[in-house]
Amino acid sequence: MTAPSPNRTQPTGSGSAPRSFDIGIVGGGAAGLSAALMLGRARRSVVVIDSGRPRNRFAPHMHGVLGHDGRPPLELLARGRAEARGYGVEFAEGEVSAVERVAGGFLLRGAHEVLVRRVVVATGLVDELPAIPGLEAMWGTSAVACPYCDGWEVRDRPLGVIATSPMSRNQAQLLRQWTEDLTVFGAVEAGIPEAELRAFAMRGIRVAPPATEVSGRLGAVRVSTAEGEHRVDRLFVGARPRPVDALLSHLGCDTQQTPMGTVVATDDSGQTSVKGVWAVGNVADLKALVPMALGAGVHTATQINISLLEEEIARALASDASRED
Ligand SMILES: Cc1cc2nc3c(=O)[nH]c(=O)nc-3n(C[C@H](O)[C@H](O)[C@H](O)COP(=O)(O)OP(=O)(O)OC[C@H]3O[C@@H](n4cnc5c(N)ncnc54)[C@H](O)[C@@H]3O)c2cc1C
Repeated sequence: MTAPSPNRTQPTGSGSAPRSFDIGIVGGGAAGLSAALMLGRARRSVVVIDSGRPRNRFAPHMHGVLGHDGRPPLELLARGRAEARGYGVEFAEGEVSAVERVAGGFLLRGAHEVLVRRVVVATGLVDELPAIPGLEAMWGTSAVACPYCDGWEVRDRPLGVIATSPMSRNQAQLLRQWTEDLTVFGAVEAGIPEAELRAFAMRGIRVAPPATEVSGRLGAVRVSTAEGEHRVDRLFVGARPRPVDALLSHLGCDTQQTPMGTVVATDDSGQTSVKGVWAVGNVADLKALVPMALGAGVHTATQINISLLEEEIARALASDASRED
């Protein structure tokens, strides 16, 4: 998939000796930037290292984000970077390839190596699409995932759901709120149980064979099946969410099962089982929309700040005690 890359900023930490920061944030999407803003305002030194592939970069507009409804997603991130930079947050473009434990914190490895006391992993998730010719090129415009994000714009229009698992039942029944003209492609093959298919029929939801190819443009999408061609305005797809969590698994962070899949386990503050490593946004919460990622970033930032503060208080007390000895 290709998409525009957000405007980038100055690299950080090049040269032989890695620079040190209080916090290193891996991933500069909604969650990472929100954490960066709060930590910058708390006068912490912060670096955000970001590879520039936010999940919603394929979408021209973003919805349901109070105060930003209809704004391009990349514009929100550009604003966020500018706001955070105003509080001294530094940015580097590139991929963090590993997080290693070192004395006093962590070494972030990759194009920009930095030493940090705390790590926030805000690397998001990847939407794995079913292998249907033509679908990838439509992702974010004619083919989308979330009725809350994109349903209003196509209310009362003919819509389709590409079923990929029994969970697609939820997407179809939800979408029925926005239109009476709804077809679910591949419902039987995706394993949606008979009782649920009856509920589809009772709510006027049609069932069709699996899509073999999709083509067309926004507002005029053609869906080919073994039994012929269908026309819909837009497709909703049960993409499989895969968290971008390699850094966390290499660190040995515990995971947990959720109805949408396995994710890193975190406590109420967003901290993983590895002390000093936080995970926030879609990497830890597969269902998080932009406002949830923003809120989680703020919450995690305040908790990290407290953890640093407690460390600083303990250090002050220890140095006082050693003076008395
Ligand atoms: C097509 C589409 C449309 C959507 N529309 C809406 C909408 O209208 N409203 C809404 O609320 N939500 C919408 N969403 C959901 C939204 O995309 C997510 O809620 C949001 O992106 C989550 O933010 P995040 O910060 O967790 O992850 P992301 O935004 O995905 O950011 C993760 C960042 O981490 C970077 N990264 C990953 N690995 C590394 C690494 N190793 N080193 C450095 N950087 C790394 C990535 O490049 C990326 O920039 C939509 C999603 C999709 C797919």
